[in-house]
Amino acid sequence: MTATKVTDGQVVSMQYTLRVDGKVVDSSEGGDPLEYLHGAANIIPGLEREMEGMAVGESKTVVVSAADGYGEVNEEAFIEAPVSEFPEDMPLKPGVEMELTGPEGEPMYARIESVEGDVVTLNMNHPLAGAELHFDVKVVGMRDATEEEMDHGHAHGGHEH
Ligand code: ZN
Repeated sequence: MTATKVTDGQVVSMQYTLRVDGKVVDSSEGGDPLEYLHGAANIIPGLEREMEGMAVGESKTVVVSAADGYGEVNEEAFIEAPVSEFPEDMPLKPGVEMELTGPEGEPMYARIESVEGDVVTLNMNHPLAGAELHFDVKVVGMRDATEEEMDHGHAHGGHEH
């Protein structure tokens, strides 16, 4: 039996546009819809909760608080480093993004918050931390997840494993 409303175990196809402060920061428009497995924390919690019960063809505007989105800004995620630790050809100014290597060799994203004298302050927060998120969403399709997708905890859109 195929569900007619978004519920756990459904692979949901959705079109979405995300705005922060009225500015579009992400959108599926002009591309393929986003496919996700409902109930598996594939999307941010505040949005997943609002998707519950939606029908195919239904549209909705969802406002998600920072706490239910990418989290509040963590003051401990700002770190200072001397200018001399950065590559010479890197422009050191606020907003510049970079990928660093964490203690376990994992990639960590950071952007420059400020540069004062020879001290660079890096912000390791998610770029959307602290932001209220405005989503325009439309459910464009829905199907039962396969057993494999349930095992993996995500939807298989053809380019995943
Ligand atoms: Zn998989």
